[in-house]
Amino acid sequence: MTSLRLFGIIILVKNLTQNPCPCESGNPYSSCCQPYHQGLAAPTSLALMRSRYTAFVFGLEDYLLKTWHPDTRPSFLNLADDPATQWLGLQIKRVENTSEESGIVEFVARYKIAGKATRLHELSEFIYTDNRWYYLTGSNPNVQL
Ligand SMILES: [Zn+2]
Repeated sequence: MTSLRLFGIIILVKNLTQNPCPCESGNPYSSCCQPYHQGLAAPTSLALMRSRYTAFVFGLEDYLLKTWHPDTRPSFLNLADDPATQWLGLQIKRVENTSEESGIVEFVARYKIAGKATRLHELSEFIYTDNRWYYLTGSNPNVQL
């Protein structure tokens, strides 16, 4: 990533801090997902899920990798190679704590690829370890349940 490009992203994120958070919580980014992107541990699996969606919107690869459980984490994401994806919104369908250390969040994320609107319906599994929530894996709820 060139320094010019990084600079542009910082300006973009600064301008967006007072805007509604992309995760559609209804709160501004600065009091929603931003603190987690800046290092605060997300207190719940839902907060982590929302902050990871917003990280996809902003292309925050480091955050996505950092919050991915080491057992399932890819070595890289290369979001920059996929500039055609435009994230449109997030709808939380179901949140369930399956134990003290695990939870699931079912959601629908809407996005556009090359002008074509698409829906991602996923059941994400999260795990709590070392005082932090981590994304473990995702599956299609229509197949799993
Ligand atoms: Zn948010």
